[in-house]
Amino acid sequence: MAKYSGPVCRLCRREGEKLFLKGSRCMTEKCAIERRSYPPGQHGQARQRTSDYSLQLREKQKLKRIYGLQECQFRGIFERAERQAGVTGDTLLRLLECRLDNVVYRLGFGASRKEARQLVNHGHMMINGRKVKAPGALVKAGDSVEVRQKSRELLPIQGALAAVDGRGIPEWLELDRTACKGTIRSLPTKEHIVLPVNEQMVVELYSR
Ligand code: SF4
Repeated sequence: MAKYSGPVCRLCRREGEKLFLKGSRCMTEKCAIERRSYPPGQHGQARQRTSDYSLQLREKQKLKRIYGLQECQFRGIFERAERQAGVTGDTLLRLLECRLDNVVYRLGFGASRKEARQLVNHGHMMINGRKVKAPGALVKAGDSVEVRQKSRELLPIQGALAAVDGRGIPEWLELDRTACKGTIRSLPTKEHIVLPVNEQMVVELYSR
C-alpha cells in the first residue's frame, strides 16, 4: 500500500495545529508549528477557504493524519463504523483507537504512532501471547498487548517508555512497565479519546 513519505511536519502545518506525529520533537521548540504556524507552500499565508466542505475535509484529513492512515484505509474503517450500531462518529473514534499500532503508542512502547507501527510490522509485539504483525489488528477489552521477550531491551522501546509519563497512559489501558505489558481494561469511549477533531464533521463529509 502506498504510504506518505514526505515531510511530516508539513501535515501539522497544513492543519494549523500540532498532531504529534514525531514523538519527543513535538514537545520542543524545534516543532515546526512553533516556528511557522501557517500552512506550507507558496500560498500558505493566503486567506483560507471556509466553506462547509473545506472545513469538513480538514477535519477528516486531520483525523486520518493523526492515525497515519491512507484514504482507502480510513474510508474502510469509516464504512465499518457506519455498519455498527450506535453513533457513527463515536464508533469511528473507537475503531481507530483500538488499532494495535495506536495501542502500542498509547502504552508508550513507541514514541509516535509511526514508530509503534514499525514495532508491530517488525514482529516485536504480541496480543494475548501471540505475535501479531498487523498494525490494524483491533484489540478487545481484556486483551493483553506486550513486547516480545527478546525485544524488551531495544533502545527505542526503553527510550519511549522513559518518556511516556510526559503524555500519560489513558484510563482504558493499564501498563506494567517491568513486564513491558499492557492490558485493555475496557474499550475506549468518546470521553477517553481527546483529539483536536470534530468527528461529526467527518461523518457529514462522507454522507454528502
Ligand atoms: Fe507536528 Fe510534531 Fe512536527 Fe510539531 S514537531 S509540526 S507537532 S510532527
